[in-house]
Amino acid sequence: MPLPSNTLRIAVMPGDGIGTEVTAATLAVLEPLAKRHGIGLAFEELRAGAFCYRDTGTAMSEETFEKAAKADAILLGAMGWPEIRTPDGTEIAPQLDLRFRLGLYAGVRPFRALPGVPLALADPRAREIDFVILRESTEGLFFSRGRGTVTEDMAEETLRITRPTTERLARFSFGLARRRAARRGRKGTVTLVDKANVFRAFAFMRGIFAEVAAGFPDVAHGTHYVDAMALDLVRRPWAFDVLPTENMFGDILSDLGAGLVGGMGFAPSADIGDTHAVFQPAHGTAPDIAGKGIANPTATILSAAMMLDWLAERGAGQGFADAAAELEGAVDAAFADGLRTADIGGGDGTAAAAKAVARRIGAAG
Ligand code: ATP
Repeated sequence: MPLPSNTLRIAVMPGDGIGTEVTAATLAVLEPLAKRHGIGLAFEELRAGAFCYRDTGTAMSEETFEKAAKADAILLGAMGWPEIRTPDGTEIAPQLDLRFRLGLYAGVRPFRALPGVPLALADPRAREIDFVILRESTEGLFFSRGRGTVTEDMAEETLRITRPTTERLARFSFGLARRRAARRGRKGTVTLVDKANVFRAFAFMRGIFAEVAAGFPDVAHGTHYVDAMALDLVRRPWAFDVLPTENMFGDILSDLGAGLVGGMGFAPSADIGDTHAVFQPAHGTAPDIAGKGIANPTATILSAAMMLDWLAERGAGQGFADAAAELEGAVDAAFADGLRTADIGGGDGTAAAAKAVARRIGAAG
């Protein structure tokens, strides 16, 4: 069958470990979804990651990078493997190279309580959890990656915050809060998470957020120290909306967020820049369960929904927005109807979970 004329090219990088398993499951759901909405998705599989490094000597070749950069979007599984390391002892992480090289400053990590999924908190308000951590993904402490100094007596890695990136992150945060507010029918709130009481870099960041906030009078704006936020994300996570933060803080708080909504298998993410975006689950390659067919593909499936939404926003057409909404709805419906993946104590493996979601595509239409 010929592809629809509005076909977009998606670079698919399954990566390592469960990355390959959750990616296959997601493609199995995307195919019927694309057909139903008449949207064209042409998938091109590209090899990168720890095993690629072991076999070829490079984690992501220049040719692969170029192909990924030319695609309309990149869908990634997970990369890295504990025993496969670079000579300096760090893990193989070409996904970080993609973030830096493509300028993907906004790490969007939504956390939502899915119907039927057991939550860490017993409070019934935990069912209302629906917030987004916006992890700045190109600077902060991670800017030091590969640049730090280590001597016999000292190790030093420096945090970096720049005005242009912070302005972009702030605008992204307020724009996202505005769009979420329109969808949810209530006012949006941006809460910058920092450590401005100790570090001047964060006071600098606060100042820039306050300047940008002035252009978004319809969105509420506040700040919160990162340590207090760790406490409040456990005490009242339902109270938050959009939480922009520095790279390392976002890395850590994202895992806390995942813990609140069922675990890493429920944490999708998107790394978005002004021209490119990578969509991938927030989890790693999970060597402890790799190859067993029990990884939860939900985070990757929801990341794919974010991808369709992003493509729609960039003008791909209403079909993409409809497909994104239907995919999210199908995931919700599958769990509401009793899908229980192994990470939440159920018996449904990766393929069964994908099937349960795929079955609900078109079910409401
Ligand atoms: P990284 O440093 O790359 O984030 P990690 O080893 O710290 O990787 P993960 O690979 O995310 O962390 O795994 C953390 C734990 O969560 C492991 O016990 C893993 O089995 C579990 N886990 C992660 N992703 C999934 C998933 N999709 N389904 C089920 N369990 C998962």
